Amino acid sequence: MYQIMTAGPTQVRENVRMARSQMCTNPDLDKAFFDFYKETCALLSKAMHTENRALILGGEGILGLEAACASLTEPGDRVLVIDNGIFGRGFGDFVKIYQGQPVLYTTDYHNPVDLAALEAYLEKDHDFKYATVVHCDTPSGVLNDVEAISCLLDRYGILTVADSVAGMFGEPLDLSRSKIDILCGGSQKALSAPPGLTMLWVSDRAFQVMEQRKTPIASFYANILAFKNYYEDFFFPYTMPISDINGLRVALENYLADTTVYERHRVIAAACRKALTAGGIKLYLDSGWSNTVTVLEVPQGITDAQLLHGMEDDYGIMISGCFDVLAGKVVRIGHMGENAYPEKVADTLAALQGTLEKLGVPVACDMRAVFLSTLEQ
Ligand SMILES: *Cc1c(COP(=O)(O)O)cnc(C)c1O
Repeated sequence: MYQIMTAGPTQVRENVRMARSQMCTNPDLDKAFFDFYKETCALLSKAMHTENRALILGGEGILGLEAACASLTEPGDRVLVIDNGIFGRGFGDFVKIYQGQPVLYTTDYHNPVDLAALEAYLEKDHDFKYATVVHCDTPSGVLNDVEAISCLLDRYGILTVADSVAGMFGEPLDLSRSKIDILCGGSQKALSAPPGLTMLWVSDRAFQVMEQRKTPIASFYANILAFKNYYEDFFFPYTMPISDINGLRVALENYLADTTVYERHRVIAAACRKALTAGGIKLYLDSGWSNTVTVLEVPQGITDAQLLHGMEDDYGIMISGCFDVLAGKVVRIGHMGENAYPEKVADTLAALQGTLEKLGVPVACDMRAVFLSTLEQ
């Protein structure tokens, strides 16, 4: 078994694994399960500081992104797709599948969205039903200020769909300070439950927009509206994955009990960047580093595969490569959720250093030592 220091899925704590092996009732028929689901959703709302209704859907994080687009998009709708990363751009595909017209707002992938520039763009064109934006765009690790972006979009009458699958629970996010209409999360990133669940936080006005559609939602599984009255109607559109939800509940309780979670992520991420930079490794981003993941460029003269396989074979530590336009160019250390502990990141940096040196790439310091001494400051 590798120690997974990937950008998600992340490591899973023992109490979460145990919760998934509890006896199960029939989640379609047992009122106790409906109460448990509802309470778990209320905890999710609390975690994001909102009264907006939270929902848990059976399906990996991508399902939430698709469900948001499926449920809001009607044929011909113009949708602003904020593209400063690979997941950001990817929203355009979902908009197209549901016959909307994606309009890409593309900026460079090395920096977060600049609010003033976005505002200047909206001044000229703001005829959009909704916009999509990513909080932490994991392939580059860039962190966008989705709270402020959603407030800006709201001033132009545009709804916001935000993907915080790889941000939330590692980066602070306060829905009460935002105008995010559909927030998307997943179980397998900073919450550190296994993959399998999507979480959505849906505003009242997003439900209204879905109810006022002229055309029906062109999906069954990705229809958010079908969940709206599950409790009153005592009916889920499909059978809920009860064991996954038992695990999610304990992961959520772990998170809520952890009063230093954001500070831990912040300090570890900063020390990790400092150690890499001191070692002469180039970070991909110029600014806007998320505290959940660090993305570094593959040094000249070696390949990502050599680096990844070397770390796996010699140290048993797995980090992430990348895909799409960043394939082969960068590798990623995921230090979110259960991965965000000093020893784990220190071991990862030592493994990275040993592998680089074995491949003939010099490293200018002891990165493990720099990391640990930075943490103590
Ligand atoms: C992980 C992730 C998702 C979920 O997608 P998978 O690639 O299937 O795990 C969605 N958005 C972001 C930003 C993610 O990091």
